[in-house]
Amino acid sequence: MSHRRTDIQLWGRIEKMLNVIRARVVEFEKILDQFPDVIYAGDPVLRQVASPVTTEEGIALGKRLGEILMRYRKAVGYGRGFAAPQIGLSKAVFVTFVDNELHTFINPKIIKKAGEVNYYREFCLSSGIFAADVGRPEWIQMEWTDERLQKRLEKISGFLARLYQHEEAHLRGMINLDQAEPGGIEFLTFDPLKEQLRQTRK
Ligand SMILES: [Zn+2]
Repeated sequence: MSHRRTDIQLWGRIEKMLNVIRARVVEFEKILDQFPDVIYAGDPVLRQVASPVTTEEGIALGKRLGEILMRYRKAVGYGRGFAAPQIGLSKAVFVTFVDNELHTFINPKIIKKAGEVNYYREFCLSSGIFAADVGRPEWIQMEWTDERLQKRLEKISGFLARLYQHEEAHLRGMINLDQAEPGGIEFLTFDPLKEQLRQTRK
């Protein structure tokens, strides 16, 4: 292969990446305008351990978080979870949007987790246009109170285990960037809807 050919290929790759980053920056600017109450990496509230809430407080906060998550999904077309510290409230509540329904998790606690780990490039509203490849246990056992005030204790695996662990970590003051594998932080230049769980690092 000639040097000239290599240069052209490299240039093409750089140009392609620049275009995707530009598009993300434009999208991110819109998000900054439309979601002024969202907190981003750098604000200390995201690194605080959240306090437990009463169920009444949890329900009210869940509604507020759910409203923002739904607006966000409408704006960008993705996003499955949102936690109270992401609006500046260090309270132990998160919401998810799964199977076309919003779910509220009040005072969630991970009781048990798998020894086996899988990997996934996680996107987080609070990490802006960066994604992080994070290794997390394949399954967990978690307890929480749901939006119907039912106490739940369930073993969760697959993508849901991934989602719940990402959100639960927010309540312990950790975002995806903090938990990234070494070398695992990158610009969000891939389609988050096509991301799959992996058994190994990329
Ligand atoms: Zn997040």
